[in-house]
Amino acid sequence: MRCKKCHEKAVIGLPRHNAAFCKPCFNEFVHDQVARAIKSERMFDPKDRILVAVSGGKDSLALWDILLKLGYRADALYVDLGIAGYSEKSCEKVERFADTVGKAHNASLLIHTVQEEEGAGIRELADLLHRPTCSACGTIKRYQFNRAAVEHDYDVMATGHNLDDEAARLLGNVLHWQDEYLDKQSPSLPASVEGFAKKVKPLYRLAEREIAAYAVLNRIDYIVEECPMAKGSKMLLYKEVLNRLETESPGTKQAFYWGFLEKQAKTQPAPASMAEKDQATLHPCATCGQPTTAEICSYCKMMARAKASTPH
Ligand SMILES: [Zn+2]
Ligand SMILES: [Zn+2]
Repeated sequence: MRCKKCHEKAVIGLPRHNAAFCKPCFNEFVHDQVARAIKSERMFDPKDRILVAVSGGKDSLALWDILLKLGYRADALYVDLGIAGYSEKSCEKVERFADTVGKAHNASLLIHTVQEEEGAGIRELADLLHRPTCSACGTIKRYQFNRAAVEHDYDVMATGHNLDDEAARLLGNVLHWQDEYLDKQSPSLPASVEGFAKKVKPLYRLAEREIAAYAVLNRIDYIVEECPMAKGSKMLLYKEVLNRLETESPGTKQAFYWGFLEKQAKTQPAPASMAEKDQATLHPCATCGQPTTAEICSYCKMMARAKASTPH
């Protein structure tokens, strides 16, 4: 197998692009895909301050690495959910990366600890709420990242969602015809109202195995195990199904998700009118002041319920 660009020995084959690359050309390919995503979706400019949501996994650390190497001003936030045996390990990976690559690019790392802020870790909270841990975790992370981005004046918040994540989420939303979620499945969501950070997904053009290869080739030390709370989640099943399709016909995931984005671009109202619609339905949460459609935001509701059911 030879590199498509320079004809040196290739280290990875990319069937969906009908190509193979050596290490330097593969890195160039990855950086180029991210640069294209940033440009075509108007995610941010070199002068913008970016907050990367990092988990210690390959996707978010690779994203931080790529943004810094492309010359962007990117700091990171880690939310410690207090999952015994998992959070310590993933936090360590993030700190190590921040101390090496982060430091070399003058980037800083913020850490929020849920246990410290709410008096309980995610497992206890989910138990109290009788809710699947993953959904409680999603609510907490979304809330924490948005609040940190707004409070620390970042222009945009970036997450490490890749092509596999977005295709799996799209499959789930289509299977259940979740129209409201389909509207929000764009890789670049504007900061429609005061108090909501702009959210972007610069890795949406890259498959999970490509990012894993990037992390390994560039010696990014990441936590390999899936979060123990994610076991049996529907998303993992959708990913399996899509991988099976991808093996049979390379390019399926890309055609599915990118095709959806193309159709959406033709039919979706302009960002300005979306912002107007959001403005009409959102107002500050009575408890914490973050924008919400209800009187009290879902995070504050969740925490209030957890506190109410704490055994005395
Ligand atoms: Zn090459
Ligand atoms: Zn609130």
